[in-house]
Amino acid sequence: MSFAAQVKKELTQIANKPCCERAELTALIQHCGTLGTDSESGGADSLHLSTENAAIARRMYTLLKPLCPQGLEVLVQRKMRLKKNNVYVIRMRRGGHDLLHSLDLLDGDGVLLQTVGVRVKGRSCCERAYLRGAFLAAGSVNDPDANSYHLELASKSRAHADALWELTQAHDLRAKVMERKRGFVLYMKEGEKIIEFLGFIGAHQALLRFEDVRIVKGMRNQVNRLVNCETANLNKTILAAVRQLDNIRLLDEELGLDQLPVKLRMVAEKRLQYPEMTLHELAQLLPDQVSKSGLNHRLRKLDEWARKVRVERGIPEPAQDDDGDSARVYN
Ligand SMILES: [Zn+2]
Repeated sequence: MSFAAQVKKELTQIANKPCCERAELTALIQHCGTLGTDSESGGADSLHLSTENAAIARRMYTLLKPLCPQGLEVLVQRKMRLKKNNVYVIRMRRGGHDLLHSLDLLDGDGVLLQTVGVRVKGRSCCERAYLRGAFLAAGSVNDPDANSYHLELASKSRAHADALWELTQAHDLRAKVMERKRGFVLYMKEGEKIIEFLGFIGAHQALLRFEDVRIVKGMRNQVNRLVNCETANLNKTILAAVRQLDNIRLLDEELGLDQLPVKLRMVAEKRLQYPEMTLHELAQLLPDQVSKSGLNHRLRKLDEWARKVRVERGIPEPAQDDDGDSARVYN
């Protein structure tokens, strides 16, 4: 089961107060409801709610039942195209307009309103329930393991997306709205805000799972960054050591180390003898107890000698590493 499906399953099991049941139902109807398409009963006054998620269909049925004394029908249809999922339809044959009126969901012309109703606005419990309904009907969220964090609520109209945006804004959830091919989408990209949103609509188990994965992911990224950084430094150190050895061997073969000034000759001999030592360790082996930076200076001198010999004798410079800075790096 995807993370989004887990969130939805959890949400359909939340117990609501009566005021919140209506708020959640309002959002479900706005997203999944159609008025007056039942040809069998004259077509005028019916209400259909459809969804591909069985748990949401059960939720719709439970919320709608107490408001429909004349009874409800449940149909299961098989989608013919695309994924061939089941589509569950909760059908109310008559009384659709009255029901929507009682929920403040119709405007003066009998058209389904796409705003957050007056009974919902300003009541924190009902605002949560309304957003819960909107998420159940048209929401999705990336698995926290995915490459990027993303949670969204789809809307058929700009007005509805804006209404959802205002609601999230009032609770500091920092969402944004964008236009898609079909309709509009309210979305959030910040992991922290997604966690707050999940908590706000009551998906507490999902929230904990999201938080766990996020913490582990954050630590993994930090460790990777450190390892990359260490590896880069180590590579530079190794390149510098390899270059020093090349230069010293060249001087030995072309010139003889005994031709070097005595301080340089001592460094060259010790470096050849202990190629894997750090500068600090190497400095301690030298009889004149030179400092690390003093040793560094002598190694540069050796590099200069080698360069001079190469120029004089027409020997090509050895290849440098990619960023070309090996000649400047010492440790
Ligand atoms: Zn309420």
